[in-house]
Amino acid sequence: MTISKNKIKIFNTDVLIVGGGTSGLYLADRLKKINKNIILIEKGGAIASVKKNKSNHKTLPQHDGFKKNTSIGLGGNSTLWGGQLVEFDKEDFNVKSYPGISYSEIKKYYQLVYKRFNINYIKQKDFLKKIKQKKIKIKNLVNFYTHWLNEPNFKNFFINNIKNNDYKIWLNTEIFKLNFKNKICNFVLVKSKGKIKKIYPKVVIFCCGTFNNNQLLLNQKKNSPWEKNQNLGKFFQDHIGLFIGKIKILDKQKFYNIFLNGFISNSKYQPKIKSRYVINNFNYGISGEIKTKSENFYLNFNNSLRKFYLNKNLINLINLIKVLFNKKYIWFFTKKFFYFLLHKKLLFSNNKELFFYIQCEQRINSKSKIFLSPKNKKKVDLKWSLNGDEFLVIKKFVNDVSNHYEKEDIFKINTKDFYNLDYQNFIKKLRDTNHSSGGLIISKDKKNGVVDKNLKIWDTKNLYITGPSVFPKTSHANITLTSLAFTERLANHLTKKIY
Ligand SMILES: Cc1cc2nc3c(=O)[nH]c(=O)nc-3n(C[C@H](O)[C@H](O)[C@H](O)COP(=O)(O)OP(=O)(O)OC[C@H]3O[C@@H](n4cnc5c(N)ncnc54)[C@H](O)[C@@H]3O)c2cc1C
Repeated sequence: MTISKNKIKIFNTDVLIVGGGTSGLYLADRLKKINKNIILIEKGGAIASVKKNKSNHKTLPQHDGFKKNTSIGLGGNSTLWGGQLVEFDKEDFNVKSYPGISYSEIKKYYQLVYKRFNINYIKQKDFLKKIKQKKIKIKNLVNFYTHWLNEPNFKNFFINNIKNNDYKIWLNTEIFKLNFKNKICNFVLVKSKGKIKKIYPKVVIFCCGTFNNNQLLLNQKKNSPWEKNQNLGKFFQDHIGLFIGKIKILDKQKFYNIFLNGFISNSKYQPKIKSRYVINNFNYGISGEIKTKSENFYLNFNNSLRKFYLNKNLINLINLIKVLFNKKYIWFFTKKFFYFLLHKKLLFSNNKELFFYIQCEQRINSKSKIFLSPKNKKKVDLKWSLNGDEFLVIKKFVNDVSNHYEKEDIFKINTKDFYNLDYQNFIKKLRDTNHSSGGLIISKDKKNGVVDKNLKIWDTKNLYITGPSVFPKTSHANITLTSLAFTERLANHLTKKIY
């Protein structure tokens, strides 16, 4: 493509953020506070919508998240997620997995993230006290509580930045070329609504989500500082999601006390159980929860109740009344409503349809990768691959959990179908959990990954990546709180180093 020089408009900026989703909007908010000039470019429009990927790979396990759950547009995947926040554990941070990054450092950033979202963070031991629970008394099982954001959609949460034009947002804009001089990206050409613009940035940060960050770096590989990096796209990970079996409640009161979701200090929490197992020198995180295969009208009711509880205005009251007076479920909803008023807890929709569901960490392996599709060299494809030990981890966890709760007379898991699974059927049955990570992982040197401990791409001086695409290890459950903690840390690094 030849471009007439006269037609190109030129811009200078301190910071160029590529991607206006979860990480991009968070980072822009942090950097605007130091009054720097920011341009944020977003591939999609003001209203995010799901773009399906075609995968030519028929290999197992299947990754539905890759095929169906990439939201393009302002807000990105925060327009799809539930906003459930979970911390990684101390065991996840070691010299091999996160070289140069300590658990105590990330823990500090978790606190800053909670603060920015006005989450009244409650330590696990205080949590147990507040909801009058005891710590599980078997060594490797831990009960824990996840916090949920009241406003998960980041476009809504950061709406004031957007409305006040705190930084420039260019929608429907994509990178066309990155130009390098002495390892510095000295200018970027972008295509914006059919026009080419030239940007001279001091720093560039890619925040395009796991698949699109990988796609961008693979597309821009030729003549780039990462041209020879063999790790691009490798070490893709997700959590393994699996329904183990139906739950039979043995003691309703004890079961409700432990497992009902509830509200403390105006934020929603969810009780879960976690554990760790070391197999072949890898410390696997795994967690479990009680899950209903809820139908939409139950979810609608829960959401309306939550909205009204958090924001008691007329509109939310009318919406709640509308769902409450559903002819078929009026008695159940009324019971649920009064139980909530009394206990600040949400009853399950159907006690006979409760399942034990697990999320298990996978160990990174180079066969699990994102790569340019042979059929369309501009797009990526995914081959999700497991190392195999995960099946053993899940068996151990299911065994520990079911033994413990059955002995305590609280609930029983129907594990028959699960124990009958062989590896082939396990691979067919499991699903991803929409926690797509890796491909551009943090490493101690450029032989082992794509970015350094400060998330700077190896062999570049001003190009950074943030989001779960940089994760070499993903702990026992949801990844985005840790991704935001790393983004907060990156903002801190940029503030100190670049300005
Ligand atoms: C259904 C679902 C439920 C989930 N639930 C949870 C949960 O409860 N807890 C949790 O921790 N995680 C959850 N996740 C995962 C979470 O949503 C992601 O980890 C997180 O949103 C990733 O943030 P990101 O900034 O990396 O990407 P995104 O939020 O996807 O942002 C990427 C942005 O970049 C834009 N973009 C893409 N390519 C380009 C380009 N070339 N140029 C410019 N812009 C571009 C996109 O349009 C998008 O706006 C869930 C995910 C899904 C799909």
